Amino acid sequence: MAVRPINAIRFEEILEQWKKDCLEDNDIQGAEIISDVILQLDDMPTLTQPNEGAKGKNVPANEPLTLEELKAEAKRQGYKLIKAKRPRFEPCLCGHNDHQWVSGPEGWAVYCKHCGLYGPWAKKSHNAVIVAWNAMSMTVNELYSEIGIQSPMKILSSYNGKVLCYNFSPEKEKHQALGKRKILDIWAEIKVNKCGGYGNYADVILCAYVDGAPEWEGVQDEVN
Ligand SMILES: [Zn+2]
Repeated sequence: MAVRPINAIRFEEILEQWKKDCLEDNDIQGAEIISDVILQLDDMPTLTQPNEGAKGKNVPANEPLTLEELKAEAKRQGYKLIKAKRPRFEPCLCGHNDHQWVSGPEGWAVYCKHCGLYGPWAKKSHNAVIVAWNAMSMTVNELYSEIGIQSPMKILSSYNGKVLCYNFSPEKEKHQALGKRKILDIWAEIKVNKCGGYGNYADVILCAYVDGAPEWEGVQDEVN
């Protein structure tokens, strides 16, 4: 079979540009298809020697490995090839999984269509944006400043469900360490207050589970 070597790196650059165009037009489906093509391209057998160390070890030194040969060689050395999977979005802290792509001079990013939370910007690829989003975490202080409202914020330990504070405030000395803990989940509670002759009113309380490592370690300094 005749083989025409092509510059796959250049081809990938072109595909990346098409994908960028798709993302700018909010054509997510198009961008995903192009991402799949890029993954396939990465899977193509290479026409250069993939591994100098393979010389003299049952692998022809100057011939390309087909995927089948690569699999056989991996098996011989005790490895199993696993096809790279395109990362999938994990839900936002608010529990929704509906993202809006945005592009800018720093690359691409997504924000949650439901709560507006932004993920980190990534230049490299569409996948890098998803990986960065999935790795994203937020501290209590960040959530507090992000929301910018004065409702009480109740913080619970994810280790034992213990309430660490009923009304978080970044200014309070005893909340300093708590402010740096990572948020694992947020939700809201409604508290009904009876107001005598004026009827009842409802307060919204923002609740958050935070990393419970200090409770796990038996440190109770931050407990209110
Ligand atoms: Zn959200």
